[in-house]
Amino acid sequence: MTYGVASNEGTPSGAAKRINHVVVVGGGTAGWMTAAGLAHMLGASGLGQAGLKVTLIESEAIGVVGVGEATLPHIKAFNDTIGINEAEFMAATSATFKLGIEFVDWGRKGDSYIHPFGEFGLPNEGVAFHHYWRKFADVAGPLDDYSLPVVACRNAKFQPPSEDPRSVLSTYRYAYQFDTLQYAPFMRSHAEKKGVTRIEGKVVDVALDPDDGRVTELTLENGQSVAGDLFIDCTGFFGLLIEKQLETGYDDWSEWLPADRAVAVPCESAGPLLPYTRATAHEAGWSWRIPLQHRTGNGHVYSSQFLSDDAACDTLLGGLEGGRLADPRFLRFVTGKRRKLWNKNVVAIGLSGGFLEPLESTSIYLIQEGISKLVELFPQDQDCAVETREYNYWMDLQFERIRDFLILHYHATQRDDSDFWNHMRNLKVPDSLQERLELFRAHGHVSAYEHGLFLVPSWIAVLIGQRVIPQGFDARVAGTPEAHVKQHLAGLRDHMSKAAGSMEDHATFLRRYAQM
Ligand code: FAD
Repeated sequence: MTYGVASNEGTPSGAAKRINHVVVVGGGTAGWMTAAGLAHMLGASGLGQAGLKVTLIESEAIGVVGVGEATLPHIKAFNDTIGINEAEFMAATSATFKLGIEFVDWGRKGDSYIHPFGEFGLPNEGVAFHHYWRKFADVAGPLDDYSLPVVACRNAKFQPPSEDPRSVLSTYRYAYQFDTLQYAPFMRSHAEKKGVTRIEGKVVDVALDPDDGRVTELTLENGQSVAGDLFIDCTGFFGLLIEKQLETGYDDWSEWLPADRAVAVPCESAGPLLPYTRATAHEAGWSWRIPLQHRTGNGHVYSSQFLSDDAACDTLLGGLEGGRLADPRFLRFVTGKRRKLWNKNVVAIGLSGGFLEPLESTSIYLIQEGISKLVELFPQDQDCAVETREYNYWMDLQFERIRDFLILHYHATQRDDSDFWNHMRNLKVPDSLQERLELFRAHGHVSAYEHGLFLVPSWIAVLIGQRVIPQGFDARVAGTPEAHVKQHLAGLRDHMSKAAGSMEDHATFLRRYAQM
């Protein structure tokens, strides 16, 4: 039995084949987000009315990776775009709000700073706030005190941001922490309402066009065939189409990011419900703590070159704050990305496209970016070399920027208490990161880009949080009258503290908003 559409119907002989039917293989976070996004934006009943047919194949027997609970603020825009109701989504996935990530013991043991999803200082101040902070570092106190989301995190507070650009409440955004096993089913029901057809089964054979090597048809274990025009590989670490069939190749970045294993375990909630993820550095890696409504997600990411599985597991279990809810689960990975995220008529989205360790919760963002770029560039027909090149250029850029930002966390450290930290501190980092570090060290400037992940405030948070203090500052602050700036700094701290104080308790807000 062949499932699909006669997609070449009406095409003049010799003309490129139209793309009418997209087949997504894999039903984890990546697969269902992709199917929902494509159906909503390009599907027959979707916005663009491009009439695209979307089919998703998944195998319950294989299952999903089962981790990936912390996100970045961009996910809200994705959810809004595809028409997801926030309160319903949060209730269905036991989600909490996330205003940033706390990094403990990274610069030195005993240090703690928060990378907030927001600005330092007030909006529209002209020269970036941290230059004033640097000039008056002797009296300014911690940079953290000048960021509203940080002060809110420290006090377990939450309030949705204001849309008034003059308000200090407009200086931040938020993301979610959710139960990954509840997320894919939630997206599935949304995608099916948008017209996505689901097929249960394991893909056991892949047919390629003998002339151009494109994928033409998939065969399932039960003998069913599924033909398509464009295939999205969302098969996770298997990389069934992009690697096993097309042998696209992998850029291995473990020389810079040597963590290659993780062990994960959920535990009972304990203490106040914090609106942030915590990343605590250890001997040869770090552990995450992700608070959800009904439990806490925990995991230890480490380098097997420097630490045994048993030692990693002991560290994780020793740090649990509540009773363990399941057995520890080990995962292996190689940090890096496919040489081409889009190869022939296969686009790899999710873990099949690559994996950068979860330190800054970037994987779901990369899934979203892959979907958005694909929709933006969606080709009329299979003659799409230009679109493929642009897609690969853009996604490579995203991966490389994130890679550099992650390396920064390990490299900008004064820790010398283990072989791992000595190795990371002395690492030869990519030139792109080295140049950023040099510019910042000299003047406190971060070379900026306007789109994508980790804009200037994120770099500032991590650089200063990890004790990279610039020698100089923006020349425009040099002549600012000292008394005036000191008064302004004191007023600002007070303003942040009062604004955070007037926010609601995170757990109270959630109970009211998302039926916790
Ligand atoms: P999977 O969940 O593995 O799904 C693969 C799908 O393909 C499954 O449905 C499977 O059944 C199907 N499949 C495979 N082979 C076949 C076949 N032959 N036939 C049919 N179906 C098939 N991301 C974040 O954004 N934040 C985090 O905090 C975070 N933490 C992480 C921690 C760790 C340790 C790891 C390893 C990853 C983390 N991630 C995180 C990444 C996140 O888990 C993934 O990006 C996300 O879950 C998407 O996974 P996926 O859908 O690509 O793969």
